[in-house]
Amino acid sequence: MRKMSKAKFTPAPWVLEYSTYDVNGVNWEVEGADGAHVAQNNFGGNDRETELANARLIAAAPEMYEAADGLMNYHCSGCNHNCTNCQFAPLKAAVAKAKGGTV
Ligand SMILES: [Zn+2]
Repeated sequence: MRKMSKAKFTPAPWVLEYSTYDVNGVNWEVEGADGAHVAQNNFGGNDRETELANARLIAAAPEMYEAADGLMNYHCSGCNHNCTNCQFAPLKAAVAKAKGGTV
């Protein structure tokens, strides 16, 4: 098993908190389990459906990160976790991006 590095994120789960929707667009906020503000949008600029889809994606990020990191640690043993050319290469790149690095 590969050594796992633990990224420091606001504790999950992250929750999408809806605030207002008016002519200026959608105002939303994503909070961590500790109530910390993770992300917010007060400017609009996209249609309502797109804004909410963006907010849901942000709120789901911790679970997706954990799932992706877990897959990298336990599932791909065929390439000895090198994963530069196997089907997990995009996943490895995404996890590296979340950790602030590159592959
Ligand atoms: Zn691989």
